[in-house]
Amino acid sequence: MEERIRIAGLGISGLYLYWRLKNDGFDVTGFDIKKEKFYIPCGYATNENIMQKYMSLINIDFEKYVFSRANQITFAGNKFDDRILDPSGLCTFDKNKLEEDGRNSIEISKINRNKGGLIIDATGISRSYLGKSPGDSQYFTLEYLTDSSDHRDFYFYFFEGGRGYFWSFPLGNRYHIGAGSLSKADLDTVRKYIPVRITSRNIRMSPQFSYIQNGNVIGVGEAIGTVSPITGEGIVPSLRSAEILYECIKKYGIEDAGNAYRHRIMDEFGYYYRLSRLVSNIQAGRILNLSNIAAIKYVKKTVNEFGIRLEILSFIRHFI
Ligand SMILES: Cc1cc2nc3c(=O)[nH]c(=O)nc-3n(C[C@H](O)[C@H](O)[C@H](O)COP(=O)(O)OP(=O)(O)OC[C@H]3O[C@@H](n4cnc5c(N)ncnc54)[C@H](O)[C@@H]3O)c2cc1C
Repeated sequence: MEERIRIAGLGISGLYLYWRLKNDGFDVTGFDIKKEKFYIPCGYATNENIMQKYMSLINIDFEKYVFSRANQITFAGNKFDDRILDPSGLCTFDKNKLEEDGRNSIEISKINRNKGGLIIDATGISRSYLGKSPGDSQYFTLEYLTDSSDHRDFYFYFFEGGRGYFWSFPLGNRYHIGAGSLSKADLDTVRKYIPVRITSRNIRMSPQFSYIQNGNVIGVGEAIGTVSPITGEGIVPSLRSAEILYECIKKYGIEDAGNAYRHRIMDEFGYYYRLSRLVSNIQAGRILNLSNIAAIKYVKKTVNEFGIRLEILSFIRHFI
């Protein structure tokens, strides 16, 4: 049996994992179906402080890719009344360029499923190698790249009933204006703007941690649902899952990494199930219940990790 590690999908999690393994001497190749110059559908918002740490581990200087840093973040809609929040690292960055640079010099090799070894499914929403998982929850998204916006700084507008939100994020002298929602009708909030580019794909909004391994295939990133059910943040959580998998492969070898990886993913991201339940409860109108109240501290955690200061007491009425 060939002992090679083959990574399917060279988005942020796949390329990160490739370099972590490669730089440690593992026999690893990568493959992606993406066409050259494909414009990645994503807000490109992240927490600069956390990104810097991950990127330095694969010798990428994150600072070079930063487009805009948040000064004042507005939360509107759903009783938020245009509340201004302080940033704690929220920025946008050139995700296309960073991923393109990160993919340069990766050893590319098409994946033959029958060859043995370990296949990493880092194919994001498609789970091309792991296969479909029951209970998967996906939202619709639509995003425009524009030359102008009604909002100069980072702006979030939350739709009624926990359906999702509209965003406007500055990218240097341009903007990403988008919406992600359970309801396709909410995507119309984006259509009044004039697009330079239009992108769209579904986003996985529920953890799928019971379905992260299938035979010799192990998943990372959005393929396994490392996307915050509250903020839709998937970049940093996907990197974190890739780092955990790297550490498990290094410690236990490719045959035995899966078990330890599953446990560590649950330790790190198990609270996503609570957040996912909170969102479902809000969508179903089950507002005042104990499980929602218990989940509120995790709302603060996930919003803070995105790089936004959120003091929960003053926001409690928005979540329950
Ligand atoms: C509209 C939108 C806005 C978003 N905004 C943000 C944001 O502002 N901040 C944030 O943190 N997160 C955001 N997210 C989520 C975030 O983009 C993803 O969760 C994150 O990039 C996931 O990384 P990944 O590497 O797991 O998957 P991806 O980045 O999706 O990469 C998957 C890769 O797999 C490749 N692939 C697919 N099928 C195959 C196959 N069969 N074989 C080989 N390769 C394949 C694809 O071409 C792609 O390169 C957003 C998502 C959407 C849809």
